[in-house]
Amino acid sequence: MRLRNKTVIITGAGSGIGKSTALLFAREGATVIVNDLQEPAGEQTVKEIRDAGGIGHFIQADVTDVQSVQAMVDKALNLVGHIDVLFNNAGISGVGAIHEIEPEQWDKVINVNIRGVFLPTKYVVPHMMERKSGSIIHMSSCIAEIGLARRASYAATKGAVLALTKSMQVDYAPYNIRVNALLPGTILTPFVENYLKTSYADPEEAKRSLKSRQLSNDLGSPEDVANAALFLASDDSKFMMGSPLYIDGGVTFG
Ligand code: NAD
Repeated sequence: MRLRNKTVIITGAGSGIGKSTALLFAREGATVIVNDLQEPAGEQTVKEIRDAGGIGHFIQADVTDVQSVQAMVDKALNLVGHIDVLFNNAGISGVGAIHEIEPEQWDKVINVNIRGVFLPTKYVVPHMMERKSGSIIHMSSCIAEIGLARRASYAATKGAVLALTKSMQVDYAPYNIRVNALLPGTILTPFVENYLKTSYADPEEAKRSLKSRQLSNDLGSPEDVANAALFLASDDSKFMMGSPLYIDGGVTFG
């Protein structure tokens, strides 16, 4: 068990990649603090963790809200006493070229995908600094490095998260805190299924087109990303600092 005696907070763990990661981390012995905006979804993740014999607690919080995030971190520390890993996973999609995006839509994507990384980190990192130990995982995307049509706001946020990863790593290396980023390609989650349904007349054709940009014949699964998150969370990756980890079927490379 690679996460025995570790406590992990995963934001946005009610669905998709966050949920798969929560289930995997619990199987690896972690106590998992499942965060999500949506209570039923978060509670369902915890139920599945407990049904499988693991330890999980749901804490509802909006990662863009200061009081909500502070309360989540306080609650987690009261429940378990320490936080070893923070996985800043929660995020939303944004579709459109710049001239098509309304300022309010732009602000919403920036708010969830960047402020939603800033706040949990801001309130967890002092605890990690005190303990001189921690692993922080940021959810970026391959879109931080490759151009894709009509994804301007989303790409801007994921590029920012990658830059933040490197900057933070320099600040927190003296405290033995590692900060790394995941860069997934197309992973079949509710987030992507919904994007394909609302943005394309023929979602199956869109999937074929996405595959044709990769080296792999398959699109990714949430478990593919969860396995990479496990590597970054555990001491197996102890020599990785400020690094991007690609889980993208070769789309960035290809
Ligand atoms: P998903 O929509 O299945 O899950 C995201 C979860 O985040 C949802 O449960 C949602 O309720 C929660 N959430 C949204 N806003 C929140 C907020 N303000 N506070 C707390 N929770 C909130 O999405 P997913 O595909 O699993 O994506 C997870 C992360 O991975 C996102 O950051 C996304 O940008 C990133 N990502 C996904 C893909 C992909 O292809 N699916 C690729 C690259 C990166």
